[in-house]
Amino acid sequence: MSEEDQSESVPSRYSRQVLFSGIGNEGQSRIMASRVAMVGCGALGTVQASLLVRAGVGTLRIIDRDFVEESNLQRQILFDEEDARAVLPKAVAAEKKLRLVNSLVNVEGLVEDVNASSIERLLQGFDLIVDAADNFDVRFLVNDYAVKSGIPWIYGACVGSYGLTFPILPGETACLRCVFESAPPAGASPSCDTAGVIGPIVSVIAGMQVAEALKILSSRRDQINRQITTIDLWANRHEVVDLPRPLPSCPCCGRLEFPYLDGSLGADVTTLCGRNSVQLRRREGTRIDLDDLARRLEPISRLERNRFLLRALIDGYQLTVFADGRAIIQGTYDLAVAKSLYARYVGN
Ligand SMILES: [Zn+2]
Repeated sequence: MSEEDQSESVPSRYSRQVLFSGIGNEGQSRIMASRVAMVGCGALGTVQASLLVRAGVGTLRIIDRDFVEESNLQRQILFDEEDARAVLPKAVAAEKKLRLVNSLVNVEGLVEDVNASSIERLLQGFDLIVDAADNFDVRFLVNDYAVKSGIPWIYGACVGSYGLTFPILPGETACLRCVFESAPPAGASPSCDTAGVIGPIVSVIAGMQVAEALKILSSRRDQINRQITTIDLWANRHEVVDLPRPLPSCPCCGRLEFPYLDGSLGADVTTLCGRNSVQLRRREGTRIDLDDLARRLEPISRLERNRFLLRALIDGYQLTVFADGRAIIQGTYDLAVAKSLYARYVGN
């Protein structure tokens, strides 16, 4: 194809990506016709969204329930102090920035919570889902949806200086539940809000996620990294293990049970009317180690404790967490705010 023909179909702004032999003109045309949905828009999300929009995907839908805070700015590269002062929803702030970056991309920022009742409406009709979520419940929900609908998705997570990522190609590679049989118990794993995180690991993991995204979107599945990659930038470790084939015994991709999608597993939310509070219930059988949670929250909040519950005052909200994982968040009627606080400080 002559240079002139190329420039008719592919704008010259993508010339360096077209020159790259792995993508070329055909790959770029496919990327430009693609629809990508991103679940969450925190650290990993802002980096991924920026790279995907610059790469020229056709549509990027960004779904996030949170607001920009000053403490996000150290790593959430799409946001600035003005967004934090205005308490803008992340999805709104991200859309605004990304439209300035590339007006050819249809960027949709949706201020919504991805849950069992909203997921189909939010993710239906997309070619690829990228993970930028802040908790395991929503990832298992996305996994249920992706496997059931046959949509590829790319898992990524980081905390501290450590990160982990792998792509999930339904029917070809292990799904999230093949790899992690069930969600780690609430409160058991560190989160960025309790253990901190450094910006570089975010860029590394998000960069790897988008590399796989570009391979999938440009139909270069032969190039996909079928490995689980873990990287620790502080401990200088980089490990890979081959991603297994789908496990026949996996409840999700093997037995085709989708309990997160039908709502029988995962977090459950209720508002306590008239009390400016939201109650979050956990699935049956959840136990939280309140001593461990107290140790993690101690440096960042004032705590009250008895043998039944732990109460923490954080960011002007009062979180009361019970040993069965139930929590009451006082100071809001907003389910999204409550779920976000729970995911950040209690964990999943
Ligand atoms: Zn599976």
